[in-house]
Amino acid sequence: MSSPVFRFAPSPNGALHLGHAYSALLNHAMARAADGRFLLRIEDIDTARCTPQFEEAIHRDLAWLGLAWEEPVRRQSEHFDDYAQALERLVEAGMVYPSFLSRSEARAYIADAQADGAPWPRDPDGVPHFPPVDRMRPESERRRRMAEGEPYAWRLDMAAATAHVGGPLFWDEDGSGPQGEAGRVPARPQEWGDVVIARKETPASYHLSVVVDDALQGITHVVRGRDLFHATAVHRLLQELLGLPVPLYHHHALILDEEGRKLSKSRGDTGIAALREAGATPRDIARMVGLETRP
Ligand code: GLU
Repeated sequence: MSSPVFRFAPSPNGALHLGHAYSALLNHAMARAADGRFLLRIEDIDTARCTPQFEEAIHRDLAWLGLAWEEPVRRQSEHFDDYAQALERLVEAGMVYPSFLSRSEARAYIADAQADGAPWPRDPDGVPHFPPVDRMRPESERRRRMAEGEPYAWRLDMAAATAHVGGPLFWDEDGSGPQGEAGRVPARPQEWGDVVIARKETPASYHLSVVVDDALQGITHVVRGRDLFHATAVHRLLQELLGLPVPLYHHHALILDEEGRKLSKSRGDTGIAALREAGATPRDIARMVGLETRP
């Protein structure tokens, strides 16, 4: 049997903090314990927010923590063709539709629909489901607007996609979810509504690129924060639609600040570089996130 493959997949849109250190160190330790491989993947499809400076800092911080990863490092911004191919298959299968609505139009539609007190569904992150406006457009109008060069995103037709798959989906969870979910977890992608598969400004989205890359890189173990636990349902659905292998998932606890909030890239105090400059050692960092390094 080939060896297990783990990956740490940060986005270079800010400085790494203790939460990232925990995720990277845990991935690395699990890979080592399983006699597996450890990859670094730079998730930089959002070319407006990701910068080469943040990317360099990621390499510097991880190397300083004592981690070693395989080269070459996959940078998603260099692989838009791979995501475009996967998208094309979903287009051909009729699983996605072009979405023209702007954010403010979507908001106005939802506010209107809620005006009489009717509840509007929200996804597991609390974001309102996308209105069905674009899904209902006649094919002729879609064609005309696309031909006229109007910008559009591609959204998953969730009802069509889940119907196409037919039966229930599951994933094997080796960590745990926010409610302690573990073992064979039922995937409920419907909870997300019609998610974006390719953005207006980028020919990919997080959901699409992450499943394509995990498959292309032969990732067998996805170890990541619990904040992505529910997104796994969408990933399972896309894997099924695209015929991709299913890794084992391990969602880990998030490192919280003193007030119990999730750490953010914008608040510098728990940044790896800031801690390093303040005199912390890599061992201190490992201890701070509850992962003692070997002497
Ligand atoms: N790029 C994502 C992030 O920085 C992580 C994606 C994943 O591990 O699946 O939050």
